[in-house]
Amino acid sequence: MNERILVVEDEKELAELLSLYLRAEGYEVTVCHTGMQARASIGEKEPDMAILDVMLPEDDGFSLCRRLRQTSFCPVMFLTARTADADKILGLNLGADDYVTKPFSPMEVMARVKSLLRRYHHYNSGLAQSQPVKEYDIRGLRISRISHSCELYGKTLALTPLEFDILWHLCEHQGQVVSSEALFEAVWKEKFLDSNNTVMGHIARLREKMGEPPRAPRFIKTVWGVGYTIESR
Ligand code: CA
Repeated sequence: MNERILVVEDEKELAELLSLYLRAEGYEVTVCHTGMQARASIGEKEPDMAILDVMLPEDDGFSLCRRLRQTSFCPVMFLTARTADADKILGLNLGADDYVTKPFSPMEVMARVKSLLRRYHHYNSGLAQSQPVKEYDIRGLRISRISHSCELYGKTLALTPLEFDILWHLCEHQGQVVSSEALFEAVWKEKFLDSNNTVMGHIARLREKMGEPPRAPRFIKTVWGVGYTIESR
């Protein structure tokens, strides 16, 4: 049976364009132009994936996502007109899996849809539990649990065990914001204390070793007031 994708977008031409591309890939598409329609559609039948515009008349994609999350763990991708929404999307803990900023290329959206659905099925099939990931390769940053090594653009980084664990934890949660507290407790396995600058210090050292420009790090990004993130693309 074809997977059903819910597209919620009030710009009708854009919704039509997306649905054309999705149908061409063999997906079944339900298009809604308002939050109300979307809620009704979700209530009727849960989609296998949702693509939600953030700004909708009398509603927004975030609250729709919350509604969807009450009953479903399907992949959710946000469409946003503002880059500024990106941090918000990652920080809201809505369980959003991805976002694209308008204007976007439909081909790029298709590629991401496929990858999100593939990942979703992979996790659901239980494969993820039986075969834990041993290696990540994120835009030239390679980290391996097998050899306990890390390379950036083919050059080995000499990391301390703590730095390795921090980077590994962030890679494991790529695309999500990890709070300083969660990071500390995962890596140090101790209770996080309020005035703890340890994490910040280690992140600074890691960035230095990675040769990151201090004002615009390419990998470990700071989400102010929340924590750190490695974007998955
Ligand atoms: Ca809109």
